[in-house]
Amino acid sequence: MIYLDYSATTPVNYDVLESYIRSTRDFSGNPNSIHSLGVKSKALMNSAIKQISDTFNILESEITFTSGATMANNLALIGTSLANMREGNHIIVSKLEHPSIYEICKYLESIGFEISYVNNDEDGLVDFEDLKRKIRPDTILVSICAVNSETGIRQPLKMLRQIIKKENNNTLFHSDMTQALGKVSVNLHDVDLASASAHKIYGPKGIGLLYKNSHVSMTPLLYGSGHVNLLNPGTPPVPLIVAFAKAIRLATTDIDKRENFIRRLNDKIVDDLKKYDGVLINHSKICIPHILNISLMNIKAETFLHALEEHEVYVSTNTACSSGEISTTVMAMYRDAKRASSTLRISLSHLTTTDEINKFLLYFKMVYEKLSFLKKEES
Ligand code: PMP
Repeated sequence: MIYLDYSATTPVNYDVLESYIRSTRDFSGNPNSIHSLGVKSKALMNSAIKQISDTFNILESEITFTSGATMANNLALIGTSLANMREGNHIIVSKLEHPSIYEICKYLESIGFEISYVNNDEDGLVDFEDLKRKIRPDTILVSICAVNSETGIRQPLKMLRQIIKKENNNTLFHSDMTQALGKVSVNLHDVDLASASAHKIYGPKGIGLLYKNSHVSMTPLLYGSGHVNLLNPGTPPVPLIVAFAKAIRLATTDIDKRENFIRRLNDKIVDDLKKYDGVLINHSKICIPHILNISLMNIKAETFLHALEEHEVYVSTNTACSSGEISTTVMAMYRDAKRASSTLRISLSHLTTTDEINKFLLYFKMVYEKLSFLKKEES
């Protein structure tokens, strides 16, 4: 098998799984219980939370565990919009967001918020002038993803923060960091709120986190008991938290070394695929190397994906979470509907080997030639 869909999800790291199993087995108490079993679980959980907060140089109380990035995005956008509705009802997002952000925006629009979409250039970089123009006195929130899930476009969050705060110091800045965390270094102090997910960084499925700076007020969306996760109350999933902390620690170690290795693999694929007349590379200088997006100009991406699958090669069309026919990201970059209508995402990991890439390129050639031939026969 050649798995090249690491941006959809990653296999859980063996040591991470071990910590999950050990904490499930040995720490069965509810951390909200005041007896010794509860106290023992709470101590373990608190040390995991401390490890995460130390890694990002934030307060322990600024972390809320969620079921994943979708839930973190919901809490961030809806919770802050409701808390700040007296200050304004205007929200700005980029045209390069994950579908979950657009679904939340649709809901916010239905309850009276106004959404503006900031432009970007062909590289995918958010247009600073357009952002400045769009920020108004009633703009309560700007949400821009750190790394786009389809093409890997990385935004300069620090610079964006400066622009936002200069135009309106009360406007909050949220970033969906799901595709950035653990792949490239991130600074949570560049934003007021951030979302992330464990299953993208070799952690277990079912846990993510919301970072919320302590000065940010938020209306809770969920009500219940428990004193740890105020915005997501109930019994905290201690083994998932412990495993997530471990996954973060492992993913943030050697990040530059891994990135350089992945860049070499990415370059190798680009060098090969750019030779095909019917393949366009949707890649710019601000893309991280972990994600490579291509357009197949004469073959349906879905057909190509399934033909690769016959050789046990796994890639994505758009993102795993997008049911749309057309890639919103590729459309936002090139404004070319044909180019955006048949895209494949190849996503890489430090676990990917050069041998796997060589084999992938061979299978790509076989599939491309076969499907191009069939298409000619048909017409
Ligand atoms: N945001 C981005 C940028 C993503 O790539 C994803 C996962 N595809 C999500 C949010 C949703 O994450 P989760 O599956 O943890 O809900």
